[in-house]
Amino acid sequence: MAGQARGKVAIDVEECKGCGLCVESCPPKCLELAPELNSYGVHPARYTGQVCTGCGICFYCCPEPGAITVYRIKAKAKPVAPVPGGEHAAAV
Ligand code: SF4
Ligand code: SF4
Repeated sequence: MAGQARGKVAIDVEECKGCGLCVESCPPKCLELAPELNSYGVHPARYTGQVCTGCGICFYCCPEPGAITVYRIKAKAKPVAPVPGGEHAAAV
């Protein structure tokens, strides 16, 4: 079962040279090479739209500066459960 995405990536298809390094290195395998060609005649990488963790590995392995931008999604604050005895409860 796929987990919730904690990040997302944007790929500039005209900066991508279609080497596939990001596709191979992405741990949850959420990148793929698009079937269509860019203006350089290569299949650019694209985000499948699912389960990016925001780890940044694709960014670090990409040889093309500016081809990949990684965004991390801020986690929602979890509601704090009330403490039995309230805030004046004796420490144990
Ligand atoms: S940031 Fe990590 S999980 Fe997201 S696409 Fe890049 S390698 Fe994959
Ligand atoms: S590593 Fe960079 S250049 Fe290679 S396919 Fe991925 S985005 Fe394109």
